[in-house]
Amino acid sequence: MNITAGSDRSLSTVGLGRWKIPTLAVVGGLFGLAAVALRLEGRRWWCRCGRWTPWMGDIWGPHTSQHLFDPYSFTHIEHGLVFHAMLRPLARWLSPSQRTVLALAGETLWEIAENTQPVIDNYRKAALARGYEGDSVANSLGDIASCALGLYLASRLPARWSVALFVGMEIALVTVYRDNLILNVTMQFVPIRAVEDWQMSR
Ligand SMILES: [Zn+2]
Repeated sequence: MNITAGSDRSLSTVGLGRWKIPTLAVVGGLFGLAAVALRLEGRRWWCRCGRWTPWMGDIWGPHTSQHLFDPYSFTHIEHGLVFHAMLRPLARWLSPSQRTVLALAGETLWEIAENTQPVIDNYRKAALARGYEGDSVANSLGDIASCALGLYLASRLPARWSVALFVGMEIALVTVYRDNLILNVTMQFVPIRAVEDWQMSR
């Protein structure tokens, strides 16, 4: 990648050597890559219920992670906020569009890794995810789009507003759904029985 910090303030192109590629084309390519990889991993396109509702608000039902958006979409907006903050120190070397592409590539790899069979089996052990069969392709693409929204918001908002947004979403998610990004990640690695019981006893 070339070093175009400061010269490319728009998100229109990504510089690769002397090539300028439209950022939208690269992002579109990431969505395509995710769709192909997830299909190869055996994921279904859409919820088995077959209803074309883009949003499903019930995280304890069988439609979770099967439609385009659900409450977990907010955790992917949070990914965008976190990626933006993590990549900020690279601003001297990478343009905003390069950092956006890097973050979305990370999110795409996360989605592909998250939907491999061993990770799905691990998720299934978590209280809220019994019977979980992996995300649908549509849901994964919705997750990447949510991450893109988080990156966009973080690029527009003052840093303290991004932090406030992250904290606000975490509090709202845990209050309404008894789950949020920090809990979700923590429970993957250190399942806490008391938290599981609390999540199940809604
Ligand atoms: Zn459904």
